[in-house]
Amino acid sequence: MTLTPASHIKRFDTLLIANRGEIACRIMRTARAMGLRTVAIYSDADANARHVREADEAVRIGPAAARESYLDVAAVIAAAQRTGTGAIHPGYGFLSENGTFVEALDTAGITFVGPPASAIAAMGDKSAAKVRMEKASVPLVPGYHGADQDDALLRREADSIGYPVLLKASAGGGGKGMRVVESGDEFQAMLDGCRRESRAAFSDDRMLIEKYLTQPRHVEVQVFCDSHGNGVYLFERDCSVQRRHQKVLEEAPAPGMSEALRCKMGDAAVRAAQEIGYVGAGTVEFLLDADGSFYFMEMNTRLQVEHPITEMITGQDLVEWQLRVAMGESLPCTQQELSINGHSFEARLYAEDPEQDFLPATGTLSRFHVDLEGAGLTPEQVRLDSGVESGDTVSMHYDPMLAKLIVHGPDRAAALATLNRALAALDVQGVVTNRAFLQRLATHPDFASGNVDTRFIERHEDSLFAKHRYTHENYASAALVGLHQLARESESHSPWDRHDGFRLNAPRTIRIALCPITQGQGQNVPADAEFCVVEGQRAAGANDWQLTIGNETLHATISSLEGDAVAITLNGHRRRLQARLVGERERNIVVMVDSQRETRLYWNRIDSIDHGHHEAESTLTAPMHGTVVTLLQEPGVRVEKGMPLMVMEAMKMEHTINAPTNGQVESFHFSAGDTVGQGDVLLEFAPEE
Ligand code: ADP
Repeated sequence: MTLTPASHIKRFDTLLIANRGEIACRIMRTARAMGLRTVAIYSDADANARHVREADEAVRIGPAAARESYLDVAAVIAAAQRTGTGAIHPGYGFLSENGTFVEALDTAGITFVGPPASAIAAMGDKSAAKVRMEKASVPLVPGYHGADQDDALLRREADSIGYPVLLKASAGGGGKGMRVVESGDEFQAMLDGCRRESRAAFSDDRMLIEKYLTQPRHVEVQVFCDSHGNGVYLFERDCSVQRRHQKVLEEAPAPGMSEALRCKMGDAAVRAAQEIGYVGAGTVEFLLDADGSFYFMEMNTRLQVEHPITEMITGQDLVEWQLRVAMGESLPCTQQELSINGHSFEARLYAEDPEQDFLPATGTLSRFHVDLEGAGLTPEQVRLDSGVESGDTVSMHYDPMLAKLIVHGPDRAAALATLNRALAALDVQGVVTNRAFLQRLATHPDFASGNVDTRFIERHEDSLFAKHRYTHENYASAALVGLHQLARESESHSPWDRHDGFRLNAPRTIRIALCPITQGQGQNVPADAEFCVVEGQRAAGANDWQLTIGNETLHATISSLEGDAVAITLNGHRRRLQARLVGERERNIVVMVDSQRETRLYWNRIDSIDHGHHEAESTLTAPMHGTVVTLLQEPGVRVEKGMPLMVMEAMKMEHTINAPTNGQVESFHFSAGDTVGQGDVLLEFAPEE
C-alpha cells in the first residue's frame, strides 16, 4: 500500500480553512482547542460572515462567484503563503476532492488535511473505482462497468442484469447523467439521453449499468486511516431520507442494524480505503437492500456534512483526528477501543421552501436562536453547528444549508423526541426555511418506526406536503396579523387610514381578501384562485377585533410577543405562532409559522385588491433572486403548457420556468447571464385564445 511520503508530514501551528459557513466554523472550533492559529478566507459576499468574524485572521480571495474565490486554487494558495499557513483544511465541497489542488499544495510545501491526490483520483471515476473495489472483494451492485462502450453490448448487458437498470455516467456526480431504464424497449433512447447529458456536464460519455434497487437504504461507513498503515471504521450512518438525492435527515447508528452486518460492512469499508492507500477521514457509501445485501456505491474522500452524528455516538472529535493524522500521528484509537453510545440524529436546516419545490430562499435572518433551556434541553443533548447568527444575510451565491441540528439520546426513541423538541425550539425569522418540513419528517410515524429507504419522501408526499386545508381559523388569523401590523404601524406613523380607516373610535368595516399561496405557484396569483373575504371591525380594546367570514362571526384578540411571535385568540381558543405581513412588490403577503408548517397568503384590502389575472397570464416573474442560465424558446413559437421556457440559477441550483398554459413567449426581458431580482418580470407570455 502507498504511504504518505514523509516530506508531506510536518507539524503546523497555523491552519487555513478553505471553506465557509457552518463547516468552516466547526473546523475552527477544534483547531482553536488544539492551540492552532486559524485563518479564514472569504469572498466579497462573505466579508462579514460568521466564519470570518471567528477566525484569528482572514484573507479576501475574490468576488462572490465561487469559481473566482473558493474554487480558485491559486488564490487559496496565495492566501496561505501570505499568512504563513502550514496546513489547509478543505472542509467539504469546493476544493475538498480536487486532485489538482492537492498536488499544488504538495508543490508549495503546504500540508493538505486529507488524503493523497492518488487516493482522490482512484475514487474520482465510478467505473475505475469499481474495478479497484472488485479487486479488494468489496461487494458491487450487479452490473457492467467495462471499457467496451458499444451500444449493442451495453444493451445485452442490461438485458442480462434484468430490468429495471440504472444507467450512470462513469464520470458522473451530483445525480447528473443518471437514468432508470424500466425495459429493453426504452434502453436505446435512455442511453442516448444519458450520453448527451454526461458529455455536456463532464465532457465524457462513458456509461456504467447497475441493477436498480427498488427500495434500498443509503448506509455509509465512516473510515479513518493514518500514514502508518492503520485503519478503523467508526460505524455507520443511515442517510436514506433524501430529497433530489440530497440528504435531509441522518442518523447513527442505522436502525435495525445487526452487529454481524455492522462488522461486515465496516471491514469492507476499511478494505476499500486501504486498497487505494487512503489517509485521513473518508466515507464509504453503500446501498443496503431489504434482504441485508449491501453494495459499494462510492467513496467520499473528505469529511462529510453529517460527521457530527458519528462524533455524538463515539465521543470522538473527527476534525481532531484529521489534524493529528495530518501531523503524522497514529490514529488515536484502535478498533477495539471504539464503541457506540446511544443514538444520534442530524437535521439539515436549509434556506429553502419545501412547499415550492425546495426553492432556495434568500434574505436577512432577523432572528436565529434555539432556546434550549426553555425547551428543557441540555448542551449534551443538542449541538447546533451553524454558519450564521441573528442579523446575518443569506445570499444566492452558495449552498443554501444554514445549520445542522444534532441531537443525542440513550436510544433512538429518546433521541428522536429530543430532535423534535429541538426543532420546535429553533426560532428562525426573516428567511424561509425547511424547519417545519423537518419537523413533519421527524414526527412521521414511519420514520419513528425506523422504516426508511431512499424513496421515503416520495412515498409519503401526501402527508409530508399535506395539501393544507384552509379553515376559517386560518383565514381569520391571517387577516388579523395584517390588520394588527398595519394598525401598529399607523399608530407610530399616522395617516394610514386615508380612505376608510380603522380610526380607533370609528369602527368601520375593513374588508380583507386572502388567497393561499400554494406549492409551485411562485409569486403569481392563478387566474382561478379562490379568495376568501374576511371583514374586520375593531372591538372594545386596542387588540380586540370582530371578524366575519361568510355567516360566521369570530371574536379575536391578538398580542405581540417577542420578535415575530404573536398570540391569537379566536372565540376563546388561544394559539401561539410566528407571523408577519411582508410587502413584496405591490402585494402584501402574510407569513405564518406554527410547529407544523409555514403558510403564506396574499393579503389585500378589498378596495385595493388586484386579482392579478391579467398579470398571471401575460407575465412571468422570477421566483427568487438569481441569474439567467439560458433561454429555451424563441419568441413567437407556440409552446404547450408546462414546457420549459427558461432556466434560472440561484445558490448552485437550477430552476426551470415553465409555460403556465398553451401559448407563446412574446419577449424575454433578460438574456443568459443577467442577474434578476425576486419578483422581476422575466418574460411576456401570450396565452392561446
Ligand atoms: P452521484 O454521484 O451522482 O450522487 P450516486 O451513485 O452517489 O450518484 O447515487 C446517488 C443516489 O442515487 C443514491 O444515494 C441512491 O439514492 C440512488 N442510487 C444510486 N445507485 C442506485 C441503484 N443501483 N439502485 C437504486 N438507487 C440507486
